[in-house]
Amino acid sequence: MYASIIIPLTVPQNYTWSIPDALAPKIQVGIRVEVELRNKKYTGIVAVISNQAPTAFTPKPILSILDDVPLIYPHQLELWRWIAQYYMCTQGDVMNAALPSYFKLNSESIVVYNEEYGDDFSMLTSEEYLVAEALSIKKELKLSEVQQLLDTRKIFGIIKSLSYKRVCTVWQSLKDKYVPKQESYVLLHPNYNTDVALSGLLNNWSKAPKQMELLLSYLHYTKQVGIVTKKELLDKAKATDAQLKALVDKGIVTIEKRDIDRLPQLPLHINIDFELSTAQQQAVIDIKNAFALNKNCLLHGVTGSGKTQVYITLINNIIATGKQALYLLPEIALTAQLIRRLQVHFGGHIAVYHSKFSDSERVELWHKVKSGETKIVMGARSALLLPYCNLGLIIIDEEHEPSYKQYDPAPRYHARDTALYYAHLCQAKVLLGSATPSVETYYNCTNGKLVLVPLTQRYSGVALPLIHIVDIKNENKFQKQKVIISQALQEAIAHNLSQKKQVILFKNRRGYTPLKTCSTCGWVPECKYCKVALTYHKNKNQLVCHYCNTIYTTINTCIVCKSQKFEEKSYGTEKVEETVQALFPQARVARMDLDTVKGKNAHSNLIQLFEQGKIDILIGTQMIVKGLDFERVQLVGIVDADSLLQFADFRVHERAFQMMEQVSGRAGRKAEQGLVLIQAMQSGHPILQLVQQHNYELFYAKEIEERRQFYYPPYSRLIHIQFKHKNQAILNQAAEYFVRHIDDAYKQHIIGPAAPFVNRIRNLYLIDILFKLPKDTQVVHDCKAAMQVQFAILYNTKPYNSIVIITNVDPV
Ligand code: ADP
Ligand code: ZN
Ligand code: ZN
Repeated sequence: MYASIIIPLTVPQNYTWSIPDALAPKIQVGIRVEVELRNKKYTGIVAVISNQAPTAFTPKPILSILDDVPLIYPHQLELWRWIAQYYMCTQGDVMNAALPSYFKLNSESIVVYNEEYGDDFSMLTSEEYLVAEALSIKKELKLSEVQQLLDTRKIFGIIKSLSYKRVCTVWQSLKDKYVPKQESYVLLHPNYNTDVALSGLLNNWSKAPKQMELLLSYLHYTKQVGIVTKKELLDKAKATDAQLKALVDKGIVTIEKRDIDRLPQLPLHINIDFELSTAQQQAVIDIKNAFALNKNCLLHGVTGSGKTQVYITLINNIIATGKQALYLLPEIALTAQLIRRLQVHFGGHIAVYHSKFSDSERVELWHKVKSGETKIVMGARSALLLPYCNLGLIIIDEEHEPSYKQYDPAPRYHARDTALYYAHLCQAKVLLGSATPSVETYYNCTNGKLVLVPLTQRYSGVALPLIHIVDIKNENKFQKQKVIISQALQEAIAHNLSQKKQVILFKNRRGYTPLKTCSTCGWVPECKYCKVALTYHKNKNQLVCHYCNTIYTTINTCIVCKSQKFEEKSYGTEKVEETVQALFPQARVARMDLDTVKGKNAHSNLIQLFEQGKIDILIGTQMIVKGLDFERVQLVGIVDADSLLQFADFRVHERAFQMMEQVSGRAGRKAEQGLVLIQAMQSGHPILQLVQQHNYELFYAKEIEERRQFYYPPYSRLIHIQFKHKNQAILNQAAEYFVRHIDDAYKQHIIGPAAPFVNRIRNLYLIDILFKLPKDTQVVHDCKAAMQVQFAILYNTKPYNSIVIITNVDPV
């Protein structure tokens, strides 16, 4: 028998291994096995089992089997296949994205000793003992070193067992090594998990009143906060170690070491304590009716209409039927506020998943989702790849967000589109939500693929904000420098501050000045590695390349003409902050952009400060746009609308409209109508008028007509190919070669090759080829196959084989 196996590498297809007789009874699709490829060991997933021997080569045997039951469900394997096919990557790429590294042991993995384990090795087998002993001395070992210690070729099983026994943790590479800090938690012994058992214990208590007191405060405290550390409990209850130990000795509580980094485990309650408005109720009915007809929906609700409350209601309904719900968000870092909002209603039933979590947390959640213990998952796009056993509903909040598309590394999948396919596979339903739907999604409502459910009023009844467009052309004429805060905006800010209201100012570039030119000769400081102007960061007094993050010391002298005079041609958030602080020295001003939210909690800390009213004016990039709900924000300023309208991309108007409508949506949500000032040079731009009227429908009608005329999505399908190489001549030749040799049927659909605007990044030159294909599944499928043929030729032809090829299906 033979097995076709997915390994976590970018190899053109799944390879085949033979199944030794001894392993045959245990082999199953979806389990992990240990295999060898080019003298390295990998964990693979069995994709197909067959009795057909490959003809071209003699397969090597599988070394060992790592799971008794499949780790991956068949519907997941089906999803992996679809992603690989649709997004032109390998199933190994998908496996890499889906599995926590613990599940992907390979020769490069390292094992790290768990210092908490102690030195009791009596429970270990002799082979485990050898490894544990070496680990306790050397603290960490490469798997290749473990291999040398043992007299067997099959080592993954031993490592798996050691990790299960908590002797060690496993890391994919030294680079991502992170050993979680642990803390002791107090848990009630499972014997007392029922009310009957517990009251029996308390009613029959005699002697040791201090211990009883400690137990009661423990019970009280866990009810409030979910789970308690030993330290917190002793502090709170003013009890001693000995009293706690007595409870442990009596078998009433246990003490367990756990990673402290993970989210607090909240009590498992469900608490739906709000009532829907009539409009929201109607939306829920319409959505359920559509689901009953096997249709997915778009909830198009204006900002502040209470889409979240609709989601909560639907999630509650679905988990009541025993199914799981997945709530996808564009970027998890931006969602602390939403997580808290949902936890109020679902407590510990909600689990949060994202790539910054430690591996052990991800492994734990993997098992809980797989068994169905976790009912609700909230996460960024990769949460879609968890092993749901009974998924009923996928909510995609802010479905228009481009960050749902993964760019690097492959799989370059779009979580929204993938979710629609996946839901179809496992008979779940999808609810997309947005105040500013993507053109593609809205189009799917007009052609019947999705059911449109509108929410046109804010829950609070407060009207959408009033929008003023401030023409800064004239003001600019009389100033030497660009106007950053116009007279009108300055007055509005002053007025709001005097009313103790908060202000949000939006600027879509970070840094101080993204463009600094020599006033004498026009020279612009550029990155050594990228063809791009450096951004000046005044706070740190540095020049930074926003493409490769290289940092340079500030340049005060032009290297061409030695002049010391520079002009600032544009500006970023740092400069806005400086200007605002100078105008309002008393105000508490804060800035939120990539530079200020580096640490793990920096972002949610800033949001909390703002929520608590400890910041008066918040200045930020797109980060402040997303779904935040603040009560006291009355004024929003879009400082530089022109810079939103300048990109050479067919989506520029869509993005500009979404961005302005969303950021406006932060103003005046609860009590009284908010005000938005949009500063622009092109004050007559049609997009600004549409934002002013909050007229999505008209925006859509104009936009879809342009897409039709110029044959852009949703009328066509785009596949963007980028070649990268350090030698520009070889790069250009390869691109020419590719377009010359691709099957004639597809030549008419090609645009390019053409160098992108930034044509060198990190010392690699870039060239683009765009396929604009008809929306015909067969044509697209065949064209992908034709591309793959050419890629294979390039990979096998010198000197083109060193070219990096990036394939991006449905670029956003
Ligand atoms: P959206 O996501 O559509 O912009 P939100 O869900 O953030 O809107 O709702 C806006 C505000 O109105 C929130 O503060 C929310 O708590 C409140 N809200 C909406 N619907 C209800 C409801 N049915 N009961 C109580 N509060 C609600
Ligand atoms: Zn100069
Ligand atoms: Zn650079």
